[in-house]
Amino acid sequence: EAVFTIRGLSKIYQTGNVEVKALRGVDADLFHGELTVMLGPSGSGKSTFLNIIGGLDTATTGEVRYRDHDLSSASDRELTRYRRDHVGFVFQFYNLIPSLTARENVALVTEISRNAMRPEEALELVGLKERIGHFPAQLSGGEQQRVAIARAVAKRPEVMLCDEPTGALDSKTGILVLDALTATNKELGTTTAIITHNATIGSIADRVFHFSDGAITEVIENETRLKPS
Ligand code: ADP
Ligand code: ADP
Repeated sequence: EAVFTIRGLSKIYQTGNVEVKALRGVDADLFHGELTVMLGPSGSGKSTFLNIIGGLDTATTGEVRYRDHDLSSASDRELTRYRRDHVGFVFQFYNLIPSLTARENVALVTEISRNAMRPEEALELVGLKERIGHFPAQLSGGEQQRVAIARAVAKRPEVMLCDEPTGALDSKTGILVLDALTATNKELGTTTAIITHNATIGSIADRVFHFSDGAITEVIENETRLKPS
C-alpha cells in the first residue's frame, strides 16, 4: 500500500537570476511500514525530495500525494498541520534544549500531542532507559541523536523522515543510531525514509533509491528483509 505517490516532481530553486534544477521529474512510491534509504552524491536532490514529502518545502511542478492529501496544492496552514500530525523529523543536528533532561526534551512533544507515548516509553524504544535524567551535555553524540529520535517517534507519527541522522557521528556510533531507527520502524510500523552515507544500511532497507543529478536513477528492492505485518 503506497503512503506517498510522487509523479513528475520537479523543483527549481531561483537565486537571483540563477536557476538550479534540484529535481527533474521524479516518480516514486513509498510504501506503508517500509524503510526506504536514499543514497547518492551531495547535491543530487535527496534533501529536496525529503523536505517536499515532509511538507517543509513545496514542488515547482508535479504531484505529491500523502494518502488522500495532495501536498502539492496544500496551503502553508495545511502543511503545518500535516507535519504536526503525521511526520516525525530527524536531522543531522539534534536540536535538544540544553537546560532540559532527555525526559523533559521528549516531554515537550508528548505533552502537546493527543496520542503520544510516555517519554519513558519513547526513550526505552531507542535504548536510553538508563539516561532519562541526563542533560544533553552529559550524553554522547549518538545518545543525543537517540533522544532526538525518541522525541520524533513519541507522538506516534505514521511517517519518519531522517536527513543524514548519522552525519555528525563516527561510523560505530552511527550504527547504533540506525539500529534505533530500524527498531522504531519495525516495532511501530512507521513508514520511514532515511538519507545516509552509511553504507551498512543498504542491507537493512526494504528499498533503496539511488539519486543522481535530480533524478532517481535506480530503485533496489530488498526481498530478504522480513516485512512488518
Ligand atoms: P542532496 O540532499 O542530495 O545533497 P539537495 O537536495 O540538498 O541535494 O540539493 C540539490 C540541489 O539544489 C543542489 O544543487 C543544491 O545546491 C540546490 N539547493 C538546495 N536547496 C537550495 C536552496 N534553498 N536554494 C538554492 N539552491 C538549493
Ligand atoms: P509545528 O508542528 O510546530 O508547526 P513545524 O511544522 O515547523 O512545527 O516543524 C515540524 C518539525 O520539524 C519540528 O519538530 C521542527 O522542529 C522540525 N523542523 C522543521 N524545519 C526544520 C529545519 N530546517 N531544521 C531542523 N528541524 C526542523
